[in-house]
Amino acid sequence: MRVYLDNNSTTMVDPHVYEAMEPYFVQRYGNPNSLHCFASETHQALKAAMQKIYAGIGANNEDSVVITSCATESNNWALKSIYFQYILTGQKNHIIISEVEHPSIIATARFLESLGCKVTYLPVNNEGIVEAHTLKDFLTDKTALVSMMWVNNETGAIFPVEEMAQMCNERGILFHTDATQAIGKLPVNVKETKIDYLTLSAHKFHGPKGVGALYMKKGKELMPLLHGGDHMGGLRSGTLNVAGIVGMGKAIEQAVDALDFELHEVKALRDRFEDALLEIPDTFVVTPRERRSPNTILISFRGIEGESMLWDLNKDGIAASTGSACASEDLESNPVMEAIGAEADLAHTAIRFSLSRFTTNEEIDFVIERVKEAVKRLRAISSSYAYAPKNHKDELH
Ligand code: PMP
Repeated sequence: MRVYLDNNSTTMVDPHVYEAMEPYFVQRYGNPNSLHCFASETHQALKAAMQKIYAGIGANNEDSVVITSCATESNNWALKSIYFQYILTGQKNHIIISEVEHPSIIATARFLESLGCKVTYLPVNNEGIVEAHTLKDFLTDKTALVSMMWVNNETGAIFPVEEMAQMCNERGILFHTDATQAIGKLPVNVKETKIDYLTLSAHKFHGPKGVGALYMKKGKELMPLLHGGDHMGGLRSGTLNVAGIVGMGKAIEQAVDALDFELHEVKALRDRFEDALLEIPDTFVVTPRERRSPNTILISFRGIEGESMLWDLNKDGIAASTGSACASEDLESNPVMEAIGAEADLAHTAIRFSLSRFTTNEEIDFVIERVKEAVKRLRAISSSYAYAPKNHKDELH
């Protein structure tokens, strides 16, 4: 059996999405911006897909939803354009992000810092969440943008972005959210919020890789980073990825249709899985379930390096993640666990399991058994576990 529990990294393309995309490679390949019958058929498909994307996030027709190549591009775009428009021009000098944003936000913010922009990295509480009141204290008249993720990719923690967006709006500060992990897992309706910019990426909700979008509220359009044509109303040049956009349209439609299933069935399966894992002694989960997306568990098994656990599980065909880039001989700890202030031995032992609407009961039963066996085996040979305090479940809080 092979079990894929790394859905926060990427997802399987839903077969219906694949079916919708398939005609746009060999049969219908016209450039939608051209003026002939090959173009009009792709243009029609594009229009229909864009409508689904607008509907999927509750955007108004007058807003702009601009197609990009991925969430990384959308995040870079939002921060860099704000820099060009408001900071380089001397109107403002400050951006606020959280210290647990995705690297496509953190690295971009660091780059802007090197150009003279002031950046505040907001801390998380011991549940891995940036609280709205924490943000309030850091807003100044010189703050151009707050960028806060909606759902954290490691813990699944849900941030109060709607409240934060409201707070920023009242002070004339622009608000961007990286909603890459939120689409298909939470209701997302920008119309009902003061969010100015929102990032999404199709491959996180059973769409294809290589296609994402940046939502911009009417009147808050960002300057383009890619110049060269009038694609996407001149906001992002480059011949459109028609098949990808058709795929993203279908995927977001399916994800919204499946939202109830995600919030109840996937969550119930995740909770059953988590209950079983927490029966193992010396295991810790940071973010409470009610403040977490329905598909994610970040769990530490004291005494077991995350990478060893992954290795053991992988031998059984189970895909999970440690959330840390193991770039050298040094085993890095999970950066979100570090931000929470978890002790090193917990940060090093974090494993992320992320389910999807395609995960089955049988798969979870299989994984529970395999995890239990792996924990037994690895703790038996763990020098750190032999000396670790036992059953201190409350230590983290
Ligand atoms: N933001 C978040 C929260 C993510 O989880 C990811 C992917 N791990 C990204 C951005 C980057 O997504 P993409 O691969 O589409 O660039």
